[in-house]
Amino acid sequence: MDIQLSEKQQSAQDEFRDFVDRKIMPFANDHDKQETMPATLIQEVADKGYLGGLVPEQYGGNGMDSVTWGLLCEEIGRGSASLMSLFTVHSMVIQAILKWGDESSRERWLPRLATGEIIGGFALTEPNVGSDATAIETNATLDEGQWCVNGQKCWISFGQVASLFLVFAQTEGKSIALLVERECDGFSSEPISGMLGFRSAMLANIKFDHCKIPESNLLGRPGFGFSHVGGTALDQGRYSIAWGCLGLAQGGLNASLAYAGKRKQFGVYLNEHQLIQALLTDMITQAQATRMLCYRAAALKEQADPSVIMETAMAKYFASQAAVKISTDAIQIHGANGCSDKYPVQRYLRDSKIMEIIEGSNQMQQIMIAKHGYQSHVMNERRQAERAKRETK
Ligand SMILES: Cc1cc2nc3c(=O)[nH]c(=O)nc-3n(C[C@H](O)[C@H](O)[C@H](O)COP(=O)(O)OP(=O)(O)OC[C@H]3O[C@@H](n4cnc5c(N)ncnc54)[C@H](O)[C@@H]3O)c2cc1C
Repeated sequence: MDIQLSEKQQSAQDEFRDFVDRKIMPFANDHDKQETMPATLIQEVADKGYLGGLVPEQYGGNGMDSVTWGLLCEEIGRGSASLMSLFTVHSMVIQAILKWGDESSRERWLPRLATGEIIGGFALTEPNVGSDATAIETNATLDEGQWCVNGQKCWISFGQVASLFLVFAQTEGKSIALLVERECDGFSSEPISGMLGFRSAMLANIKFDHCKIPESNLLGRPGFGFSHVGGTALDQGRYSIAWGCLGLAQGGLNASLAYAGKRKQFGVYLNEHQLIQALLTDMITQAQATRMLCYRAAALKEQADPSVIMETAMAKYFASQAAVKISTDAIQIHGANGCSDKYPVQRYLRDSKIMEIIEGSNQMQQIMIAKHGYQSHVMNERRQAERAKRETK
């Protein structure tokens, strides 16, 4: 696996870093406190072409490779996990349309998603339905060329501002995925405040009251909603989140290295105390291990290797835990300063905890990874038994 960045990737990384250092880092704590994401900042990332990173050039996007997209999510995650969540949900809608939309849907939506003229939202979770997405209660019925959608979704990141939602519903017992525009009659949203983390992710609960949607807004076909369209979107979401967690982890580490190198206690800098060195060592190693898993997922994605789905789940699972651990230790190293809003590490901890819950909670990842591990084990045993049988003949 090659983890050497190409010249183009390196220069993209430099550009992302510079942008985040100037435009995001200095303001992220204030946005967090005010529980808002300024429209001007969203416009700025759209104007840079970042929101269209994954849209192919033929539809007006940037056509980034998997590593470059990962580097972008890492840097944005280092600056603001809330803003990173916009990249996550927006790219989930893009990937779902790319893979499951027909050509006319791609031509209709992708150029506008690429420029940020429309913002995508992902609407799966409901008041009674979280991890068990097969039990969705939102209902859609097809009548004279239109879907009529009724139901409610909750905890929708950027639900206050998104203009196109990828909505999961059920029709006659089959799961479907529909593109629902904010503008449609019967749509309403209610902002959410006071969350532990992702405080500037403009969360909302949204409602559909007899919303009429053109039949052509269906992605995939009935029965494919959660399993296929949702599967594509969630895989994309986990990939972005794994890299975003790497950014959170790196941010906590950078802040700790800087702090431990300038604060003295007992006459020496903190980084000269061996117990602090032990914390820093674990943080550096965890961040590096996270990076390796992210790069591995990127390499498999570029090769369209089917194992990428499981490797991405592992990257998200590991990265979110590493981000929590590193942010916790970062606060320890900062002492009381780490608990104050003058430093970013308290925000990193609150945001990284969210990462263990979203895009399939870590328990859901454990179930998926363990099941897959067992299936691979059974297949390997079967292959070995067949080989042994052939050799004894
Ligand atoms: C900040 C934030 C942003 C979000 N953004 C979005 C968004 O944009 N779009 C969207 O659709 N949703 C969004 N969500 C919702 C998120 O996807 C759900 O919270 C998540 O899927 C878990 O569902 P739940 O909260 O209902 O927990 P539940 O499913 O009720 O689970 C509660 C706990 O039980 C565990 N659990 C559940 N089933 C099992 C099992 N079989 N075995 C073992 N443990 C189990 C879970 O892991 C969890 O720890 C967001 C949530 C947050 C906090």
